Amino acid sequence: MEEVTGAQLIAESLKTQKVEYMFGIVGVPVIEVAMAAQAAGIKYVGMRNEQAACYAASAVGYLTGRPGACLVVSGPGLIHALGGMANANINCWPVVVIGGSSDRNQETAGAFQEFPQVEACRLYSKFSARPSSLEAIPSVIEKAVRTSMYGRPGACYVDIAGDMVNAKVDRSKVREVSCCPPPPVSLADDGAITDAISVLKAAKTPLVIVGKGAAYSRAEAMLKEFVEVCGLPFLPTPMGKGVLPDDHPNCVAAARSRALLQADVVLLLGARLNWILHFGLPPRFNPNVKILQVDLCAEEMGNNVRPSVALLGDISAIVSQLLKCVQKEGWKYPSNTEWWSTLKEKIAANAKISKALALQTTLPMNYYTVFHHVSQLLPHDCIIVSEGANTMDIGRTMLNNYLPRHRLDAGTFGTMGVGLGFAIAAAAMEMSKARGQRVVCVEGDSAFGFSGMEVETMCRYNLPVVIIVVNNNGIYSGVDPETWREMKQMGDMTSIAPPVSLLPEARYDEVMTAFGGQGFLVRTVEELHSALQLSLSNWDKPSLLNVLIDPSSDRKQQEFPWLTRSNL
Ligand code: ADP
Ligand code: MG
Repeated sequence: MEEVTGAQLIAESLKTQKVEYMFGIVGVPVIEVAMAAQAAGIKYVGMRNEQAACYAASAVGYLTGRPGACLVVSGPGLIHALGGMANANINCWPVVVIGGSSDRNQETAGAFQEFPQVEACRLYSKFSARPSSLEAIPSVIEKAVRTSMYGRPGACYVDIAGDMVNAKVDRSKVREVSCCPPPPVSLADDGAITDAISVLKAAKTPLVIVGKGAAYSRAEAMLKEFVEVCGLPFLPTPMGKGVLPDDHPNCVAAARSRALLQADVVLLLGARLNWILHFGLPPRFNPNVKILQVDLCAEEMGNNVRPSVALLGDISAIVSQLLKCVQKEGWKYPSNTEWWSTLKEKIAANAKISKALALQTTLPMNYYTVFHHVSQLLPHDCIIVSEGANTMDIGRTMLNNYLPRHRLDAGTFGTMGVGLGFAIAAAAMEMSKARGQRVVCVEGDSAFGFSGMEVETMCRYNLPVVIIVVNNNGIYSGVDPETWREMKQMGDMTSIAPPVSLLPEARYDEVMTAFGGQGFLVRTVEELHSALQLSLSNWDKPSLLNVLIDPSSDRKQQEFPWLTRSNL
């Protein structure tokens, strides 16, 4: 008779389900689970906060289509991970959280870190359950992994009673559960395909919107052919960037507002009509716009705008259906239309404004100058992680992506603090490849602070990450060092310091050197170039560039105020 422990069953079940990475923080009662996971061949990354661990595990899910695991202790450990679960669920990314909990015979008795964990996770997940016995572990884990990937992807939770971790069972009594295959792919109805093509053919000002669902669906090859065969302009959402390269001639990202406002037909590929796309409504959209909505989630169809045609199924498969139909009819949107000239004029005008700001030579630098020079040095294949307010918004327009799933940011939930966890996951995965890519993490100084201690994690595992902190001494905008000193002399800072301010010229670079990584304090373009070149060429250490910018630097004038919502 061979006996196995609960910890072994959890680890082996995750491995059987092809979960390759586990991020977590150990403690009572889950230490043995982490050890068993490593023994089973799962890579374990010990993090400094469960929230970042859960962000990391969900990034694996987005990047690979199979969930990463996040391992946490009971009570507060699990509660810290809820932020990561919510972020994953709202982004539609698969992740499986495994939480230790109190012993079965102490339930409701006021046990150490006791909390109604299964119930707590329901709001943040698609599935939340506790195996009732050791024998049930493999099937509950299979169900969690499968549910996280099938349908609309999301977070799943498995609760493990503390006493089950080291309890033993005869292996022959445990039913084997095989690996669940990738999600079945569904196609759109043929009638819907022909309807969509006829709407598209009648369009005067068509636009394709590429969302992160298209990235998740790995639609890049099919979509490239479709866009080129049809000659259609396309616009990526923030994480849709790179599905088709940002420098593709049909990309109209630099004329985003114009394209959204004047499009009469939008082919919407894996993007919700939520705040990111201004709800699909006026004043940002044409009130009569016809939406051809492609999504695998039927409940999504019609949110905010009733689609002219609903195409339910997998994006990659549906784009190939559309392509076949178009090719049969031999249709192409002409390249000499007024629509194309309008878009191209707008692109040129916007590029001119950004370029003028980028080439300003005054010090401290502004955002545009920093991103202009960073973009010149970044390798085409690097993974860009980004968060912050202006840092992320301006960075998105200035830093190109050329490959799919090479951008990770604050996402649908607008979560600050995700960057370091995402970067750790991406870098851990890249490190295990023969020709791994650099991960460049572009952070606002405020955003960096949420998970700053994960720098120690990066140094501990020698992860190939370059962090660029664009430091404006605050949230949105900061205070210059001199004003700060004057304020300090005036008295109690809690009643004077602007709530948006952070310590001016804080030495975030020294957080990196504290753990043995490379840190650089950057004030000028020359220092930026040399620090970034050094960081990118030095592979065996993470680095951090603390780029001090003008605290009053802002976005260039926008046509619309942020988050316009007047018609809702
Ligand atoms: P973005 O942030 O780019 O606007 P969203 O997260 O709002 O994107 O939307 C992504 C959409 O893609 C979700 O509605 C999700 O259901 C859908 N989706 C995810 N994967 C697929 C897929 N393989 N096929 C079709 N739709 C998908
Ligand atoms: Mg800032």
